[in-house]
Formats: sequence, C-alpha cells, structure tokens
Amino acid sequence: MPELPEVETVRRGLEQAMVGRSLKKVILRRENLRFPFPEGFCSRVEGLQIDSIRRRAKYLLIDLSDGKVILSHLGMSGRYTLFDAQKVKQYAMTQGGDETSRFGLATGFDGRHDHVEFRFDDGSIAVYTDPRRFGIMDLIEGGEESIHPLLESLGPEPFGNWNAKQLAQRLEKKTTSIKVALLDQRIVVGVGNIYACEALYRSGIHPQRESRTLVRKDGKPTKKLDVLVENVVQVLEQAVEVGGSSLNDFADVNGTLGYFGHHFQAYDREDQPCLKADCGGTIERITQSGRSTFLCPRCQR
Ligand SMILES: [Zn+2]
Repeated sequence: MPELPEVETVRRGLEQAMVGRSLKKVILRRENLRFPFPEGFCSRVEGLQIDSIRRRAKYLLIDLSDGKVILSHLGMSGRYTLFDAQKVKQYAMTQGGDETSRFGLATGFDGRHDHVEFRFDDGSIAVYTDPRRFGIMDLIEGGEESIHPLLESLGPEPFGNWNAKQLAQRLEKKTTSIKVALLDQRIVVGVGNIYACEALYRSGIHPQRESRTLVRKDGKPTKKLDVLVENVVQVLEQAVEVGGSSLNDFADVNGTLGYFGHHFQAYDREDQPCLKADCGGTIERITQSGRSTFLCPRCQR
C-alpha cells in the first residue's frame, strides 16, 4: 500500500506533468473504484486547466481553474503512468479506441485495470491504473474541501508545524498503545504501518506502550516523545528523498520503483539481530489492530 512518502512522490511527478495543461478529454472505463465516480465527472472537468496539485494526508488534490478539486486516493494498488505526446503516438497503433486502454504494455495487466484516462491539450495522457480498486476519485466543488467527509476530521500533517507539544495534547488521556495512536489519522496523518514501526524502533519506544505514559503530568511531552516526533519526521523525509518504498505493486508516476525498503532497520526483519550497537536483541513480530509490528523487545521500552 502506498504510504505518505510514495504519495508525495506521485504528487511531485504529477505536478511536473500536469500543471498548466488543460483537460481535453477524460475517459472512465467503469462506473466506480471504491465508490462510484461522481455524476457527470468527465463533462464537469473537461476544458479546465490544472492549476496546482497538493497533498493532504494520503489524498492528492488536483486544483482546477474554476475552483473545483479532483480528489484522488491510491488505495491499495492505485498508480498513475504518464505518457508524453510522443509516447502516446507510439501506442496509437496498438489495440483500443476509447473503450479499451492501449497502454497495457506500460501499465501492466494488458491494460485491463486502466480505469481512468486524463487526456491533455498538449497530447499527453495520464492513466490511472488500479487492480484492486480500493482507490478513490471524487470531485469537490470550490470552497467545500474542508467539509468533505473524507477530509474534515484529518489531524495535522507531520511535515510543517507539527511538534511534540501538539502530539502530547492528543495523547494525554489516551490508554491505547503508541503504535496504534500513530496510525490514527485524527492524531497525525500519513504515518503508515512501516514508518510507525521504524520511528518507534529508532526512538527506543515499545510499540505497546500506553500513549499517555509519554506525556508528563503537566501535559508537556516527555523527552522520549520529543525524540519520537523527530524520528517520525526523519523517517518520512528520508523516504520522500529516495522516492518512496517499493512495496507491493506500487510504482511512481514514471513507473520506477523507490528503494527505501533497503533501509528498514526493524520493519520486516523478524528473527534478525537488532542493529543498535551493544543491544544484542532480536527483532520480533507481533500483531496490533490486525497489523504487523516489528520491534526489539530489549531496547524498546
Ligand atoms: Zn535492540
């Protein structure tokens, strides 16, 4: 599943390819992804220019010139592939008019899972492919972003002004484990399973530790919580730098895979030695809220 760094990588790729171009034609090859496409989606966006592309949590927000916003979430397996005008011509002779994708060679699965095609005025095309169809695509009217049901209750972004004081306020009375709290989008957005494990490992905090024990009696963050916030930001930044991880069948917009996976210190390292000097512990895997957690029981407390 693409996590925040992968989504940020996709955002940057789409930004380069789409901003300043107009949507000449949009093709939907089915009626729904996770939810039905909004009524009249294509005709409501055709002719509009892409002004900017933002990210909120793991949602991509594509700003259109009339104030509307296309909301896109990659779900479990969604991805975009970009074809410039020259590449589009190369595929022109292969199968398919508007009914069938002709980009199967590049997008995989013979193009069977190419559900959306954004055709631009300069001849370039962005194809949205999603084999498992957990992705979301919606259209938000101008000014209605903050009341959109998927966006309204999201917590703060880890990049930006987020700090340990804010986190302490949200954890003060929480008896849930710190790992589960980090995955709660109302507490902080976009910290997925992998990066929660990594940040807790680097901070020496046991994933099952009660959240409120990381907050002092006066409501201020403990030193450990300070360290945790630093590490959450750091693991996410490092992942963005290398273009996101390459787990599952995720590919970034250019079809290239990231390689943050090579740098995991705890995640997916069950039964392997702890990498911290002088620890001597062994990485264990436990399950929390149905998700795997990797930890070193010796140095995480
Ligand atoms: Zn250890």
